[in-house]
Amino acid sequence: VEGRDGTCRAGNCDVPAWMCQLDHRINYAEGGPTHPDNLVCLCQRHHNMKTEGRAFYILDPVTGDVVWLLADGSWVTTQATGPLAPSMRRWARTVAEDVMAHRAKMHEDAKALKVELDNGEIVDVFDMTDPADRDNTRGGDIPF
Ligand SMILES: [Zn+2]
Repeated sequence: VEGRDGTCRAGNCDVPAWMCQLDHRINYAEGGPTHPDNLVCLCQRHHNMKTEGRAFYILDPVTGDVVWLLADGSWVTTQATGPLAPSMRRWARTVAEDVMAHRAKMHEDAKALKVELDNGEIVDVFDMTDPADRDNTRGGDIPF
């Protein structure tokens, strides 16, 4: 659970998971299992808020997202940021998958660059109609 959560799961709280308490989303006394699908890292302050009923949350066990339902009726979503969070699981790739993903990204980047070039969106770094740029090309001291 600490590896998934990374920090306290309340919004904008960066207390490290290893300093947090494990909250049973459904209370243990009410039959909530001691299982990662029912456990969330909360710092003392946010654990107290939840225990006192000032905030409720729902944990999506597949994505690790937590949706907080606040007393004023608003809601906030937080994403797990630990190395074992589903969204952070690049480490779970094989080398072949990593190479294929890298090649696919390079291909996408190249296609995007081609579109920009074809549309003329890339502006030349040196605009030869600009006197300042033109002067820089005439025999001045090389700065290195
Ligand atoms: Zn917190």
